[in-house]
Amino acid sequence: MKSFGLAFMLLSSSAIFAQNKDAVVAAIVQEAQANSQLENYAFELVDMIGPRLVGSPQMQQAHDWVVKQYTALGADARNEPYGEWRSWERGTSTVTMTYPRIKSLEGTQLAFSPMTKEKGVEAEVVAMPLFSSQADFQSWLKTVKGKIVLIGMNPISGRSDANWKESASAQGYEKYQALKNGQLKQWELSMTYTGSTRRTLPFALETAGAVGVIDSYWTELPGLTRIFDAKSKQIPVFNIALEDYSLLHRMAVRGVKPRILLQGKSKELGTAKTYNSIAEIKGKEKPNEYVVLSAHLDSWDGASGATDNATGVITMMEAVRILRKVYPENKRTILVGNWGSEEQGLNGSSAFVEDHPDIAKNIQVVWNQDNGTGRIVRIGGSGFEKAYEYIGRWLQYLPEEFRNEIQTSFPGMPGTGGSDHSSFVQKGIPAFGLSSTSWDYGKLTWHTNRDTYDKIVFDEVKQNAIIVAVLTYLACEEPELVSREKIVLPVDKTGKQMAWPTNLQSKRTSGN
Ligand SMILES: [Zn+2]
Repeated sequence: MKSFGLAFMLLSSSAIFAQNKDAVVAAIVQEAQANSQLENYAFELVDMIGPRLVGSPQMQQAHDWVVKQYTALGADARNEPYGEWRSWERGTSTVTMTYPRIKSLEGTQLAFSPMTKEKGVEAEVVAMPLFSSQADFQSWLKTVKGKIVLIGMNPISGRSDANWKESASAQGYEKYQALKNGQLKQWELSMTYTGSTRRTLPFALETAGAVGVIDSYWTELPGLTRIFDAKSKQIPVFNIALEDYSLLHRMAVRGVKPRILLQGKSKELGTAKTYNSIAEIKGKEKPNEYVVLSAHLDSWDGASGATDNATGVITMMEAVRILRKVYPENKRTILVGNWGSEEQGLNGSSAFVEDHPDIAKNIQVVWNQDNGTGRIVRIGGSGFEKAYEYIGRWLQYLPEEFRNEIQTSFPGMPGTGGSDHSSFVQKGIPAFGLSSTSWDYGKLTWHTNRDTYDKIVFDEVKQNAIIVAVLTYLACEEPELVSREKIVLPVDKTGKQMAWPTNLQSKRTSGN
């Protein structure tokens, strides 16, 4: 540690910064390796604060925590209000099968679902059948009064595809694939007759007199289910993971008339202000020009939002921590945006761009990270004609083993959504998503009940903090603001000239 401090003292001369970018990069790498704070940041955010649903008290705690951390790093940090949202706080939720035998089931109340009475709701469980017409659905609706309804598809196997492929005979695997695809097609057709989606269906059932709704949203890995929000107004909506869900489903279909008890003790807290947490380290030469580090702070609340997107948040925080030590004389302002309500449609980042035209016109670049814990391996040009020139040049300074893995696609295409860099791209600001290796993000952690601390791969997050720190340093040092020239977009399939996307707009209230 001591010799390390000496290295910094030697590096602190601005002459060396100017002359030897490689030395700064080396110091960034060394600081990241020697003094990483990533595990501490992750513990505090993911384990102690936990999930960060828009409008919830935990989201407010997360905002306050971010401001505290950046203040400690010597940044000017603030929570910037941009709207308000229904405030709902998760309580304990339990699901118990009470007939034909007692069993605790793995389930949870969906976000924004109405709570149950203190004693809970106990009723017979019925499974939604396949429909062959709208009339068919309408006549079934008349049978759900007083029942708890299973509305998810019950997959024919709870094993992963990889498991089938590895262990089944070739014919067995083929047969399974055919059955699986056939089931899905039938289910999707049947859903069209309901006139609802899986998120709006509970409302139709509530109107028809059901007393509870159970969904299960299997991701094709054992134990995994996606957990979003509920659209009902009166009755509780729960998610039950596949294994217990299919148990209930089989019993219901075989006429056993299973019963379950739902208890959900959430709280309605009115409305809460929504915020973006913003931290700025003023540029010493060009304080009115900005390099933006972007990662959304909010999450769904089926787990603790570890890889969506605590890893992005702590990557940016660690990058700033490193830069404060290694590059205290940042020429441009480094601005960190930890956005609110990305999950409801990039609302925080869109609001920020709308509210700060003064900042927006002077942004050098935006680095956004939001697709899991993996190391950054893809950077696209977001449709900016000259992105290849400056990003291509900056990437040369990365440690060779990082750089060799990064595939670039220039000029790329501007985003219509997906994550927060799109909010900037739509206003013509050079903003780039730093895309990670998957670590099975889609099936394992994205909006699931298992997006937890243990899924974080810290060595890879460390690598990302280094990459962000290096790219931020170089974007601060670049003599001029980079080109914002856009590509001419291609024509679409009908021969019509495609236009630069402008579909994003912040939603500043939940409308509830
Ligand atoms: Zn995300």
